[in-house]
Amino acid sequence: MKIAKRFRWEAAHRLPWHEGLCRNLHGHSYRMIVELEGEPDARGMVLDFQHLKRALAPLVEAWDHAILVAETDAELLAVAKQTGWKHAVLPFDTTAENLSDYVAGYLCEHAAEMLRTHRVRRVRVRLEETETCYAEAERAVAPETHANGAAQAATKQHAR
Ligand SMILES: [Zn+2]
Repeated sequence: MKIAKRFRWEAAHRLPWHEGLCRNLHGHSYRMIVELEGEPDARGMVLDFQHLKRALAPLVEAWDHAILVAETDAELLAVAKQTGWKHAVLPFDTTAENLSDYVAGYLCEHAAEMLRTHRVRRVRVRLEETETCYAEAERAVAPETHANGAAQAATKQHAR
């Protein structure tokens, strides 16, 4: 079973090494579809859409109406800092490919327990940069390692 939720935000970015127009600072109305693959529970739900929304809210809020700037783009970073314009510094060039991969990794890392609890096996992130272009990244949700399980069991025992 697959479920998906759409997200959208507006942001500016540039690719400083690009030989065409993309080297100029410009904006996109980003659209993103996050797809989760898993098994519905007894009530017929894979995961509450609100929980997915909440898991990605910190990212979407940080990126909305912001300049997405690669940490290696010293020129743009200086402008963003001098002006105080809202910006998000990212450890990669802000291509649609890198952004989609980052979101997939972020979700698998920050919502790992939620995804595992709901038996979500795979995460797919389609990031649409324009009406006609998108990149899609996919990650398998890592199964709980033995060490993690032991640590969580220990934490629960402490809580009692
Ligand atoms: Zn662009």
